[in-house]
Amino acid sequence: MNPDMILIRFGEFTVKGKNRDRFDQRIMAKVKRAVSDFPRAEITRAYGRIYITLNGEPYEAMAVKLKSVFGIASFSPIRRTVNELEAIRSAALDVMRALPKQPDTFKVSVRRVDKGFPHDSQEMNHLVGGHVLRELPGLKVNVREPEVELKVEIQPEGTYVFSSVVQGAGGYPHGTNGKALLMLSGGIDSPVAGYLAMRQGLEIEAVHYHSYPFTSEQAKEKVIELVRILSQFTGSSIKLHLVSFTDIQTAIAQCDHNSLIITLMRRSMLRIAEQLAGQREALGIVTGDSLGQVASQTLSSMNVIGRTTELPLLRPLITMDKNEIIRIARQIGTFETSILPYEDCCTLFVPKNPTTNPNLGIVEKAEESISNLDEMILQAVATVETLTIRPDIRTAVETAGQDDWF
Ligand code: ATP
Ligand code: MG
Repeated sequence: MNPDMILIRFGEFTVKGKNRDRFDQRIMAKVKRAVSDFPRAEITRAYGRIYITLNGEPYEAMAVKLKSVFGIASFSPIRRTVNELEAIRSAALDVMRALPKQPDTFKVSVRRVDKGFPHDSQEMNHLVGGHVLRELPGLKVNVREPEVELKVEIQPEGTYVFSSVVQGAGGYPHGTNGKALLMLSGGIDSPVAGYLAMRQGLEIEAVHYHSYPFTSEQAKEKVIELVRILSQFTGSSIKLHLVSFTDIQTAIAQCDHNSLIITLMRRSMLRIAEQLAGQREALGIVTGDSLGQVASQTLSSMNVIGRTTELPLLRPLITMDKNEIIRIARQIGTFETSILPYEDCCTLFVPKNPTTNPNLGIVEKAEESISNLDEMILQAVATVETLTIRPDIRTAVETAGQDDWF
């Protein structure tokens, strides 16, 4: 049975007083985009929810699209009928019969919003529940822990009957919490961090450091593909800033502090990211750090590395373990791309014993000993290559900035 409508519910952001209009407009736009392939679908807004009238468009295909819209807490396929007892009883039975598996227990929860309707909620629970019980032998009522809760909402314009609640992506509508720069390597973690940041309503621009010619064309393609996958979640293009890190990395690798190479690299990366964030009006930097995962992600390392910037460093994965991160990477479709075996700039010149407890004073001295570090950082920012990655196209469509370096 194809439902008549879909009821869409939102999460916490419905309570955000002043920002409410902005959230409302964004979520409406995103829902419209999600169902744009279904021309007969009609979208309406009522009582802090969105309703989609299907007009015969297929529910399952639409549900797949809605599941990835940030800001949707849950949705339900609905059978709609008129405000008359017999019609409601028969719709209730239809909904129960359409369940993929017939339950042993259920309960009816009626909400009467239309006060003109002759039976109140309690009476309706009995009138509808009794009818279903008569028609479906073997079914029992369990009010405390029912397998299925059959919901009936009697609104002034009609009655909505539904039982299933489909989990949405949650979070906030895209872009409603500002913009941040995502430090995107080709690894498993940072694309997941980017996804979670976007889900929380952040618009992102990605920055990737490469060490061409030590890193390859394929490594670049891999990062482009990761950005493309992320862009599919919002349907909007994402800017990718490609930064040449070769000179800085080479200089760092040549200084006398082998165990500090990663710490020094991360600090320079952050300095560059901070400047790009300023240019792009981004107010935070997102990384894929997860506490303790590698030497540069101990609390002590993060402390020394993080001091290079005053921007908030957002680390969505900080307390997740690797299995949890991998599970999300698989779910969002970045895992297979992330595990392609191309060298990242950080896997080159990796020290044998990276420090887990760097000393800020020694790190700062090491930086002073690298002549021209500040100039190289400015140069890296000045020669950034910016691509605009669209969700539907496998290659970058618009290039601004420097010529290709591959
Ligand atoms: P990932 O799987 O995201 O690469 P990781 O566990 O391999 O993470 P690191 O390589 O130590 O960890 O990197 C920590 C974080 O630093 C990354 O999650 C990413 O945000 C950032 N980062 C590392 N290398 C790069 C790079 N080449 N370009 C951009 N950001 C990077
Ligand atoms: Mg990495």
